[in-house]
Amino acid sequence: MKNKSPLVVANWKLNGGTDLICASVSKFLRHNFKVNIGIAPPYVYLGDMANFLKNSSIMIGSQNISKFESGAFTGETSGQMLKEVGCNFCLIGHSERRQVFLENNASCQTKIARALEANLMPIICIGENEQQYELGLTKHILYKQLHESLQGQDLTGKELCIAYEPIWAIGSGKAASPESVQSIHAYIYEEICTIFDKETADKIRIIYGGSVNKKNAAELLAMPNIDGLLVGGASLDPEHFSEICELAN
Ligand code: PGA
Repeated sequence: MKNKSPLVVANWKLNGGTDLICASVSKFLRHNFKVNIGIAPPYVYLGDMANFLKNSSIMIGSQNISKFESGAFTGETSGQMLKEVGCNFCLIGHSERRQVFLENNASCQTKIARALEANLMPIICIGENEQQYELGLTKHILYKQLHESLQGQDLTGKELCIAYEPIWAIGSGKAASPESVQSIHAYIYEEICTIFDKETADKIRIIYGGSVNKKNAAELLAMPNIDGLLVGGASLDPEHFSEICELAN
């Protein structure tokens, strides 16, 4: 499955501002990365970031998308709007959205459909929490997250990516071991073969997130089923993030 070129995505969450944007843009415009890179800053910076990076291969994406297309939905941003300001992808169902904003597999299913309609690549975040992990429920949770959000999606001519992010690994400094991620990604691949078909599944990148840094990135990327990384904390330092991208180059 390493016929898919790796994808490294920065998830800034509710962090960053003009200083980080300037530092990141100048770093990325000076460097000629071969790896696919995506940056997901907070909404208000998307247009500027997309403009600054429009002559580069770096993709810009949002951290969320509305499940509505337009209308009286205060505070929402639609897929068409994201596309119009220059986004290429959007994160969907990050565990912080699921935990803090009560998103679930059904809302993710609608959001995935909205993203695909707008020609944005959805990066669907899935993963078990610590208790589920300890109870051996990881595959059960992933099965539900995958089937309930992906069933019925029309991927004809579209791109999609899955980010496996065990909740206990996010921001904890305890990344999952490359071997365990490899085996979970192999399971996710089998399930997406069932939901779609092998040809479609072969085009879907399965990336890993959770305490990724420049020390563990290379070992993770060396695994055959790990097609890239979703980086939170370490992406807030442009030097650190570019070192991770370098390892994927
Ligand atoms: P982390 O976050 O790299 O800080 O663990 C990853 C994520 O939440 O996407």
